Amino acid sequence: MTKETKQLPQLYIVATPIGNLADLSPRAAETLKNVDLIACEDSRTSANLLKNYNITTGLVSYHKFNEKQRTKEFLKLFEEGKKIALISDAGTPCISDPGRILVKELFDIGIKITSIPGSCAITTFLSVIPRDTEEFAFVGFLPRVKSQQAKVFEKFKNIDTVFYESPNRLLETLESIKELRGESAKVAVGRELTKIFEETKTGCVSCIIDYYKNNPLKGEIVCMLYADTDTQEDSSDIIEKIKKLKNQNYSDKDISVILSTLYGFNKNKVYKLSLTL
Ligand code: SAM
Repeated sequence: MTKETKQLPQLYIVATPIGNLADLSPRAAETLKNVDLIACEDSRTSANLLKNYNITTGLVSYHKFNEKQRTKEFLKLFEEGKKIALISDAGTPCISDPGRILVKELFDIGIKITSIPGSCAITTFLSVIPRDTEEFAFVGFLPRVKSQQAKVFEKFKNIDTVFYESPNRLLETLESIKELRGESAKVAVGRELTKIFEETKTGCVSCIIDYYKNNPLKGEIVCMLYADTDTQEDSSDIIEKIKKLKNQNYSDKDISVILSTLYGFNKNKVYKLSLTL
């Protein structure tokens, strides 16, 4: 008696290397060989990886611009019992990369989603830099507008805050941190992790700015602003005073000068708070 086995639809979220091709796990390679289709961000980038592992499974693009449309198309393929793997250009899909829409949709209708874990820039970075606590906040890519950046840093001021940053913007972002939290604010930078020119640096924000003004600032970057240990004191009194001056249309800069002169408050702290109000 033969028993027919029906293929169960399944989505595999497969992590790929963040720079070092050897970091694809054997289980990831096996999965990518065995699925019916691989959804990827950029087919040229992924074709290189697959070629390296002799994987011939078909590729289809899945990126932030077609995520919703593709999700509908994949739902039809899942109805036919197909197995699909999702990969991104580097690291773990859905972490500052496309995939969340698909996962949410499939999760809600009960399709099995399996993670094939591996490289991720955040965990790679956090595992090699000195930290005092387990707690951290990951905020993805920082907003580009300075006042919005200030809100993020204010919101997570008591927690080490990890973010992705482009090499073109890193110095500007470090300058904003210096302005908001003072030149002794502590930061960590991980650059080109797992690659030949891998580098990690920690220190006061001014020191890191000086370092990168004199050394190449290229490649992929993860950054962390350490928790602000100076600002644990109650800020409500300062906030009240800032609000009063804001009502009289004083600029954030003027407010920081006025309140630091009159009451001896830390100028950077006042400025940072003022930006967020
Ligand atoms: N999903 C990916 C992951 O799991 O790490 C992250 C994707 S996000 C679009 C890409 C950003 O991750 C880069 O701009 C950079 O900030 C960071 N990144 C990726 N590879 C890196 C590396 N080798 N070293 C440092 N940062 C890296």
